[in-house]
Amino acid sequence: MAKKSTKWALKAPAHASVFNDTKVPVENVLGEIGKGHLIAFNILNIGRAKLAAAALGGCKQVTTLSIEYANTRQQFNLPIAKFGAIRYKLAEQAIKKKLLSEGVEHSKALLQAAEEYAVECAILKVVGSETLDYVVDEGVQIYGGYGFSADYPMDRAYRDSRINRIFEGTNEINRLLAVDMILKRAMKGKLDLMTPAMEVQKELMGIPDFGDVDDTLFASEKRTLASMKKALLMVAGSAVQKLMMTLAKEQEILINIANMAAEIFVSESIMLRTEKLVAHKGEAQCTSQLDMMRVYLNDAADHLNLQGKEAINSFAEGDEQRMLLLGLKRFTKTPPYNTKEARRRVAKALIDANAYCF
Ligand SMILES: Cc1cc2nc3c(=O)[nH]c(=O)nc-3n(C[C@H](O)[C@H](O)[C@H](O)COP(=O)(O)OP(=O)(O)OC[C@H]3O[C@@H](n4cnc5c(N)ncnc54)[C@H](O)[C@@H]3O)c2cc1C
Repeated sequence: MAKKSTKWALKAPAHASVFNDTKVPVENVLGEIGKGHLIAFNILNIGRAKLAAAALGGCKQVTTLSIEYANTRQQFNLPIAKFGAIRYKLAEQAIKKKLLSEGVEHSKALLQAAEEYAVECAILKVVGSETLDYVVDEGVQIYGGYGFSADYPMDRAYRDSRINRIFEGTNEINRLLAVDMILKRAMKGKLDLMTPAMEVQKELMGIPDFGDVDDTLFASEKRTLASMKKALLMVAGSAVQKLMMTLAKEQEILINIANMAAEIFVSESIMLRTEKLVAHKGEAQCTSQLDMMRVYLNDAADHLNLQGKEAINSFAEGDEQRMLLLGLKRFTKTPPYNTKEARRRVAKALIDANAYCF
């Protein structure tokens, strides 16, 4: 059949300026004339928070599918849910999903103040999309060969999840944006980073405080969080001092800083949410949530150490480098914690419920 040629009434626009000087009825004007970009940028912020909420729904569904399958699939005369390697994955799916849900809870506030919470929106977008990718990837793994087959649900989930790291601003751009916004706010005097950064510098020179240790519930986690914040202030503050205006060109260091900020944001969110839950339901009803919080914080401190080390080794040398690395070790230290047993307890609760249940 001969190919029909199509005639177009209008040429396809070569660029967006096709909308220039377009008449808009007064009642249809959104916001102020000449300030449309503010609305466009805030829509991006809202979109990022919504993406995290959608990722959370995906995580719950994929975790439930993984648990059901692991309880059904028999290998070596056992359901694969009995194997430690699979329990680890199920527990991690739940732990990572939990941290995301704490962030999204916070995002209700983001929707009302998209501009004020633009940094949080960027972090939620990155954490949300990467959490869903982790959950789906392990979902494929739990399904084994069937995970690769289009006859089963994980194959579709795997592909669908992947776009989230690309649209609404790629995760690289969102990481860079988050740090850029924080530093701009500090430069404009909207956010005081200098005072706490100087205090951390002073503390670094001093002798560590080994005073009375509070061992009440959440006290240890609060100490860990306070130290993690010091690690970030130390690394970011030193990078700004050392590199000044050239820091903007050091994307690897900016991404290290963004990763540290994101770890702290989600660690604090998960801790505050668990604290609220315990106050509401009592400690005995929240054992899985406490396990998940402790596993997350334990691992977050290690991740912070790695990101901080990469950053410090990129910009510092000699005595300064040694002092910063020692400070980082001090600020990312956590009390020993048996994450294997904690993950097993979390996995058992999921397997017994045969669904995502927290
Ligand atoms: C299914 C789908 C739906 C979409 N829906 C929409 C939509 O509704 N509305 C809309 O506006 N857009 C939409 N997009 C477009 C989407 O937002 C873009 O694909 C995305 O922003 C990335 O832009 P790009 O594809 O040009 O990649 P590029 O900008 O070319 O990026 C390629 C890579 O380079 C990196 N990179 C680029 N610039 C920098 C930099 N300065 N520093 C460091 N790294 C950098 C990126 O992070 C990425 O890893 C959609 C895309 C897809 C695939």
